[in-house]
Amino acid sequence: MFSRRSVELKSVSELQVMQRAGEVLSAALDAAVEAAAPGVTTAEVDAVFAQVLAERGATSNFLGYHGFPATICASVNDEVVHGIPGERVLAAGDVLKIDGGAVVDGWHSDSARTVVLGSSEAGTADPEDERLSEITRQAMWVGIAAFAMARHVGEVGDAIDDFVSSRPGAPLGILEEYVGHGIGSEMHMAPDVFNYRTGHRGPRVRPGMALAIEPMLVRGDITTRTLEDEWTVVTEDGGRASQWEHTVCRHAGGLWVLSAPDGGAAELARHGVVPVPPGQ
Ligand code: MG
Ligand code: MG
Repeated sequence: MFSRRSVELKSVSELQVMQRAGEVLSAALDAAVEAAAPGVTTAEVDAVFAQVLAERGATSNFLGYHGFPATICASVNDEVVHGIPGERVLAAGDVLKIDGGAVVDGWHSDSARTVVLGSSEAGTADPEDERLSEITRQAMWVGIAAFAMARHVGEVGDAIDDFVSSRPGAPLGILEEYVGHGIGSEMHMAPDVFNYRTGHRGPRVRPGMALAIEPMLVRGDITTRTLEDEWTVVTEDGGRASQWEHTVCRHAGGLWVLSAPDGGAAELARHGVVPVPPGQ
């Protein structure tokens, strides 16, 4: 079940370049989230994201990846991941997943956010969609906090699974066909980072390890299929999905969230984790 491929361990200076890539990516996602609004197309959100990368001298690891035609994946509602930006016009109540990446000097970052357009308070969004996104977001931080202390990578999925399955209210499903991954000199590398309890410890955590931690949760059944465009993954039952993702590293001094400007300090405080930048 676990890949035998060796895990790339980064030097401090390499992690610091990944940190620069992550900071550009964070700014690009900020702009994309700001641009995402009713009446805007997903292609326009992609253009805003691409412009920030260009302005900051970064390149996209999504554009051209196995022929992918854009700098973000824009997946709406029952589309879980890998949606292709285009002429689809966003509407209030939509659940938009923006997943993007940036490369600086050959080092990769990968991060995703969910935006629920409108708000349940205003009657323009489903409160259950807001709950789905918030639990997915919190699950990501629970997974990151677990990685801060983990001896083995499998502890990330154990923590996410325990967190999600203990939420009160309607149960949410954790996707199993799509998982997180190692990242560094390429976007997708060993090891797989499962978001559920597999019963396997997984590889040992070592300084220099960088992971993309990205829980994907659905309101219904976890079965998915790929559309005829050969990219867009949708839930079979039409249930809505959320994805949140950060690129995170462990180094000799601790843990740092490479795709968050504060290294994750604000969110990790409630988990008792104080992030430390690589090199300190
Ligand atoms: Mg991603
Ligand atoms: Mg990823």
